[in-house]
Amino acid sequence: MFSYRHAFHAGNHADVLKHTTLIALMKYLTQKDTALTVIDTHAGAGLYRLDGDYTETSGEALDGVFKLLSDPNKPPAHQERAPAATKTIATSKPKAKPPLVLAPALQDYIDLLRELNPQFAQTGVATDLKIYPGSPFIEQKFLSGRDKLKLFELHPTDFKSLSGNIEQLGVGRQVAVAREDGFEALKTFLPPPARRAMVLCDPSYEMKTDYGRVSTCMADAVKRFATGTYVVWYPLIPRPEAHDLPRKLKTLAVKAGRSWLNATLTVKSSKLTTDTEGEVVRPGLPASGMFIINPPHTLKAELQAALPQMVTLLGQDRNAGFTLEHGG
Ligand code: SAM
Repeated sequence: MFSYRHAFHAGNHADVLKHTTLIALMKYLTQKDTALTVIDTHAGAGLYRLDGDYTETSGEALDGVFKLLSDPNKPPAHQERAPAATKTIATSKPKAKPPLVLAPALQDYIDLLRELNPQFAQTGVATDLKIYPGSPFIEQKFLSGRDKLKLFELHPTDFKSLSGNIEQLGVGRQVAVAREDGFEALKTFLPPPARRAMVLCDPSYEMKTDYGRVSTCMADAVKRFATGTYVVWYPLIPRPEAHDLPRKLKTLAVKAGRSWLNATLTVKSSKLTTDTEGEVVRPGLPASGMFIINPPHTLKAELQAALPQMVTLLGQDRNAGFTLEHGG
């Protein structure tokens, strides 16, 4: 059950989508004067070293946050290849492209990375990015004194790291960490005291049953507290449950009369390939999505500006693209 460790995946393209969206949500939801309760049902370790063993082993951040930070004027790989039959005759010096002006949501994401990485903030050099914040640290950054953050993590090692990482923030009882099942624990916090809440549900989907648990948990949460903002990350992989999940969430939002938003980011084809020795090569995670029930009215425009840039900067082949749907 516990083979998933987020450290292997920290800073990958799915984290870029998830954390950019999370920052936009937190920024908006913490503007009001009424206290906000944030519940992170699957918190992970909270902080990750990008030069540590796990991330070095998988290198997923190289196709995620590091790619995002590399030269934005460089055309993406799938646009670089000229058709074989085309001869290019340089008649004049190619003009330098104007610098890409990042969408505000992506700029906020990079600014947050700067805050945690003083050396990177100074140099702007991607290799100076050493620490990557998980969802708990992103959420905590936006809280003010009246807000509360509840974190749940089941993995014994990640729970220990999370507890230690949160403790060093010295924020006392504002942030609570528990080694409990986040799907179950959520029930006890809804409705929240000041009737304002944001829930992030970000399981590893290591077990097929996670897909069903997410939709059941969200249906129950909306029943208990209809006006909360519910945020679900999901992988887009060739597996029926993965494609059913956003459909189920949409049905539940529509039935409950709540607004919803669904954003997906694809960076590459999901097809299996073979290497030079004929061995089948799995493509790794090709795409993921964020489904939000009761999104702030500002979120769609923010993602509309950020998603095409994520495609340009993170796309690996011609299948790269995004979708953005909303309703209610
Ligand atoms: N939300 C984190 C972030 O964005 O930085 C990443 C979380 S990771 C995708 C999922 C985490 O959920 C893993 O650390 C895993 O150990 C933990 N987990 C798995 N099942 C759980 C459960 N039922 N309740 C709480 N945590 C669980």
